[in-house]
Amino acid sequence: MTDELLARHRAVLPSWMALFYDEPIEIVHAQDRRVTDSSGRTYLDFFAGVLTNSMGYDVAEISDAVRKQLDTGVLHTSTLYLIRSQVELAERIAKLSGIPDAKVFFTNSGSEANDTALMLATQYRRSNQVLAMRNSYHGRSFGTIAITGNRGWSASSLSPVKVNYVHGGYRYRSPFRELSDAAYIDACVADLVDVLETATAGDVACLVAEPIQGVGGFSAPPDGLYRAMKEVLDASGILFVSDEVQTGWGRTGSHFWGIQAHGVVPDMMTFAKGLGNGLAIGGVVGRGDVVDAINAQSISTFGGNPVAMAGATAVLDYITDHNLQANCEARGNQLLSGLRAADNPLVGEVRGKGLMVGLELVEPGTRTPNVRAAKQMLEETRARGLLIGKGGLHNNVLRLGPPMTLTEAEAQEGLEILVDALAATHA
Ligand code: PMP
Repeated sequence: MTDELLARHRAVLPSWMALFYDEPIEIVHAQDRRVTDSSGRTYLDFFAGVLTNSMGYDVAEISDAVRKQLDTGVLHTSTLYLIRSQVELAERIAKLSGIPDAKVFFTNSGSEANDTALMLATQYRRSNQVLAMRNSYHGRSFGTIAITGNRGWSASSLSPVKVNYVHGGYRYRSPFRELSDAAYIDACVADLVDVLETATAGDVACLVAEPIQGVGGFSAPPDGLYRAMKEVLDASGILFVSDEVQTGWGRTGSHFWGIQAHGVVPDMMTFAKGLGNGLAIGGVVGRGDVVDAINAQSISTFGGNPVAMAGATAVLDYITDHNLQANCEARGNQLLSGLRAADNPLVGEVRGKGLMVGLELVEPGTRTPNVRAAKQMLEETRARGLLIGKGGLHNNVLRLGPPMTLTEAEAQEGLEILVDALAATHA
């Protein structure tokens, strides 16, 4: 059945659409943290639709809130009329952001959110020069391709913004990898100063950074890096945009927003993925004067629609009612320590924070990316009933991003599968 669907997929969808697994799966049912494919096989889900199904599947409180909105008959009303749930959700996110006098604009995806942030920053600063981190991922829209420093994922080199990349987001294979945290921060700040002095022509609009690089392989820079960078940026009025598409809503465990670990209040944050628990949503929260900087009337037909607002409001309630930020910290530590204890020579580094856990696979005894082992691990874990993710510049990093509702027993189950699969994977 999937063979036939795969052939039809290949015939009618673009060749560059990558599917996981030698024999791709079609998910037809999902409940809690488990998904079932069309052959009836059930898997524990440690990737959650690339961190979108943040609460898991078929969560009654969220489904009920969406159903209630559907029952009103109002799926969409256009941006020409008032939408109460949009105002209320914006008020909550503005307050949660910690950004003074914040305003919010809703989009449908992370790429659109980052595109909007780029448009606001470039307009506000009257400059189309931006900075991004090496190895970053910010989306696949025409603007965000330009600031995605992960070339393996880049689709086009034509760009409406002029971008320069700086060190800091990814450390394991960087030239500064052996330095202490403090010296690493100093080296990255020196690189930023150098880029500003030598590579840019005059005013720069903003720096866009992920607090923990997601697609780049769940690499968390030392706490304080971004505060040190922001001091340099502040001296020239350059805006700081934190891309919280993966790190927002408590997933990193220690903080509600990933950037808070650095003691930074950004000028803007972008969000998407987990807030919708599978519904399409994204947005920008930022300084009111920056968010107000364009004269656009309306820039999204579906952004902020009542169905997405109902789902997102229920997700936010669920995160607080169930203290999921604390759960992310506890379950994340359980996974990190379990994987570190396994001490497999294929694993060059176990890293991350909260429920963003990465395993960089290498040729044993070296830092050389082991792409083949990562591919085999994907198949080995699937065969044992676990779905995981893969990423990193070389596609050699295993990514674990289960729903934030993961239980202790499920974390243990996943760990045992991972350790067993590692032992079965050839070096
Ligand atoms: N920013 C980050 C940090 C992301 O991980 C992603 C998606 N992987 C995006 C932006 C783009 O989001 P979307 O795919 O919803 O456009």
